[in-house]
Amino acid sequence: MSSPDYAKGLQSADADLISSIETFYVRPRWLFVRVQTSKGIVGWGEATLEGHTEAVEGVFADFRDRFIGWDSAGIEDIWQTAYRLRFYRGGPVLMSAISGLDIALWDIKGKTLGVPVWQLLGGKVRDRCRCYGWIGGDKPSDVLEQAIQRKNEGFTAVKMNAVESVAWLESPSVVDAVVERVKEVKSVGLDVGLDFHGRVHRPLAKQLAKALEPHRPLFIEEPLLPGQPEEIKALYNTTSIPIALGERLFTRQDMRPYFENGCIDIVQPDVAHAGGISETKRIANMAETYDIGVAPHCPLGPIALAACLQLGFSTPNFVICEMSWKIHYNSAEHDLLTYLRDPSVFAVREGMVDVAGLSGPGLGIDIDEERVRAEDAEFRKGTVSAWRNPVWRGPDGALREW
Ligand SMILES: [Mg+2]
Repeated sequence: MSSPDYAKGLQSADADLISSIETFYVRPRWLFVRVQTSKGIVGWGEATLEGHTEAVEGVFADFRDRFIGWDSAGIEDIWQTAYRLRFYRGGPVLMSAISGLDIALWDIKGKTLGVPVWQLLGGKVRDRCRCYGWIGGDKPSDVLEQAIQRKNEGFTAVKMNAVESVAWLESPSVVDAVVERVKEVKSVGLDVGLDFHGRVHRPLAKQLAKALEPHRPLFIEEPLLPGQPEEIKALYNTTSIPIALGERLFTRQDMRPYFENGCIDIVQPDVAHAGGISETKRIANMAETYDIGVAPHCPLGPIALAACLQLGFSTPNFVICEMSWKIHYNSAEHDLLTYLRDPSVFAVREGMVDVAGLSGPGLGIDIDEERVRAEDAEFRKGTVSAWRNPVWRGPDGALREW
């Protein structure tokens, strides 16, 4: 018996092979992935890494060399090969590319078998997933207006940035202004999560946590920069407010110190950065053993959101999901629902999205491919530029965290 040829991975009998892998830049700042099989099944993924689109696309040149001709059903074999067999592993660029490919392969598997991804992940453990919307604006009056709007749109929870650009040390008036904005949102009857965005440093973070505690935000997010689990642990010990983070951590290995030292209550893996549906599910399972909830990070596009919700329906420790509809990065022409043929799948009622809308095969969404291709063509022609995050400097000229 001759030894099998593993050049194209493990192959099952009658395998439906990957025949093409394409990427599309779409505004406001997303990177969609389209994988097609030899039998004509199309799966969509999202590999958005905000501000780093070209770098992630570079990984896909390698993926096309490696994975065209592989069995599209071999999600784990492909994931392991993409992650382990390149010597360098992890990090935002490589993991976002793996995420986009992985999500598309789950979409293909669901479409092949005629079931939603949540069925493939073990079946549903809930009928509805709670989602939060975003509130921009920094003046209390703007905040109140937007909170009322969000409530009228069906949300029961929102998130907003705690502060704009700040220095290591700020006037206590900055703290007072944050508390006022939280009070405005809560006056409408909404729960509110506060994103410190890793832009707040220790001297301000401890004051903010203390001042906010009586107002009971849903959580505070990235209270300090990732990479500082010991400093976050010290802050954790001073407050009863749930602490959330994880959008800038990739794979279980990155999450591990935050789980082991007990410095977070809610983990926020981003399905488009952390390793796709496969690794996000593993992160969620790992978090469960530490009694940590999962709130998928998703200020991204519709494919990433669909993947998050497929996980949410089938993950016991899911708590809430971010939704980018009308987030400040989007515009009326390029928003969460722009590229969907049926936007009703993400309808929010009583603060939640119903599983019924996302029970079609695969991710349960229908991407408007014509629109995606037209949008990407503008980018290739150079009429649309890639999104870049702003550079912030203080009045003294010093660089600040964004
Ligand atoms: Mg955040």
